[in-house]
Parts: sequence; C-alpha cells; structure tokens
Amino acid sequence: MPPLHPMRFIKICNSNYHLIVKLINTLLCGLLLLISTNSQASINADQACQKISNKLASVSLRECKVLKLKPSGFNSVNDFPILIKEYPPLKGKKPKGRVLLIGGTHGDELASISVVFKWMKKLEKHHSGLFHWHVSPLMNPDGALIKRQNRLNANSVDLNRNFETPGANGSALTYWANKTQRNKRRYPGERPLSEPETQWLKQEIEQFKPDVIISVHAPYSLVDYDAPNRNNAPKRIGYLHRNLMGTYPGSLGNYAGIHLGIPVITLELPHAGIMPNKQQISHLWTDLIRWLIKNL
Ligand SMILES: [Zn+2]
Repeated sequence: MPPLHPMRFIKICNSNYHLIVKLINTLLCGLLLLISTNSQASINADQACQKISNKLASVSLRECKVLKLKPSGFNSVNDFPILIKEYPPLKGKKPKGRVLLIGGTHGDELASISVVFKWMKKLEKHHSGLFHWHVSPLMNPDGALIKRQNRLNANSVDLNRNFETPGANGSALTYWANKTQRNKRRYPGERPLSEPETQWLKQEIEQFKPDVIISVHAPYSLVDYDAPNRNNAPKRIGYLHRNLMGTYPGSLGNYAGIHLGIPVITLELPHAGIMPNKQQISHLWTDLIRWLIKNL
C-alpha cells in the first residue's frame, strides 16, 4: 500500500472532524429538546386557544385569542395551562368588589365553558371598573379537550370534591365510599387538594381574595348558593331559579362558601352540550351584575 500523501491525510481528518462535530451537535440538540419539553409548559396561550376553539363550536380561534388569556402558572395533570384573564380596577374608580368567575370544572359540561367565553366578550367591551374580575373559563382542560369529554380530570378525580373541607361531615373519601356507593363520577381523590387544578384554585382564592365566586356548571337548571348566610341567595338569575342543594365534603361550595365564608353562586345551565341562546346569555349576565351591585 502506497504511503498516504500528507494533504490526503489532512482531508480525511477534516471530514471525520466534521462528522464528529455534527454528531456532538445532534446529541446536544436532542438533549436540549428533551430538557425543554420536560421543564416548560407544553403549550402557550395561543396554542391553548387553538385547542379550545377546535373543541368548542361556539368559541372561534379569534374570539379566544383577542382575550389574551394568561397562564396562571399552574398546569393541569396533562400539562395544559390553566388560563386566566384579569379585568382590573380602573384609574380613579374603586371597584365595589372582587369577583372570581370559573367555567369548566367538569370537563363534560361544555356549555359552562362557552358561556363564560361569551361573558368575557361582554367584559372586553364594557368593563367599567365597577368590579375587579378574575375569570378562568376552563378549570379542567384535560377533561374537556379530549375526544369524549369527561367530567373528571386526567387522574379520574372529580375536582368539585377535591377541596379541603375540615369540619364537613367526615372526609370526602369516606363520604364517597359510604354515601355514593363509590360512584366513579364523584371520586374525590386519595386526599384533599391532590390535583394541580384544585391547588391552583386554592392559591387563586388565597391571593385574589374574592368577595364572591361564580362557578358555572350544567345540567340541573338552577341557581345554588353556598354562604354562611343564605338569605341573600339570588332568587333567580336569568332563566335559572333558586334551588338550594346540600353541600358535599370536598366541594367548592363547602370549601369556599361554608369553610372560608366566601359566597359561591353556582349556576347550573339546563344542558351540558347545548348553549343558551344569545338572549338567555345576556339575561343571565344582567341578573348576575344586578345581584353583585346589590350585594357587594
Ligand atoms: Zn358540574
């Protein structure tokens, strides 16, 4: 074999050198990608809007995007950001109170999410500073944004039974085992606040300190009210009439309304999958505002 010409030797070295650099580059990029996907929220607010509008026929991508919802800093079990929008106090006007409005606690109650989006559209136009709002239209994205929407979150927990309610009639888990025949749709989780979605709401309540919480559900067609004093429960909100239910261990009504003393208005729309019409949506909103003006 003839001796290798020095120039040819350098060429071979160079090409190998490039190969090695390429290989290291590829490995580093792969590693960085792995780190970034594990340490960041999987999607941003615009991508979240894309998924929400894909699922909800009545909420368009544009309608969602113009709201400029912000990540709350908490993600669902499957890493979907829990989004929130603030309508803050306006200059020179002290709000009458702080209101926390929540939709989509149960993922299969899609109308409860859409209605909150429609009310946010009103706030975008007419926010006058009368109240200081925090609005979160979708508390349980994992339950709502799957092909067959589910009441429960991705850990099969009923978020409306996962709060801490000391002093309630026994623990939520004992109540579930003894009184609901272990109904899977009411499973409260192994312990209170085991879920990131309820941990978010607990922190939100502690930090925002709402004077009232409005939580939208379906399909029982009624207004419920949990508070230390139920005398000022709304008689009627739009086409929904007052029908005060019991409180359950682990529920938001029990936690905030009874334990913390923050009134909780629960609006149960008549249909989980059918939106109220435009007039009904407006009527519900007007009556809610009227109640807030009178009671805050
Ligand atoms: Zn519900």
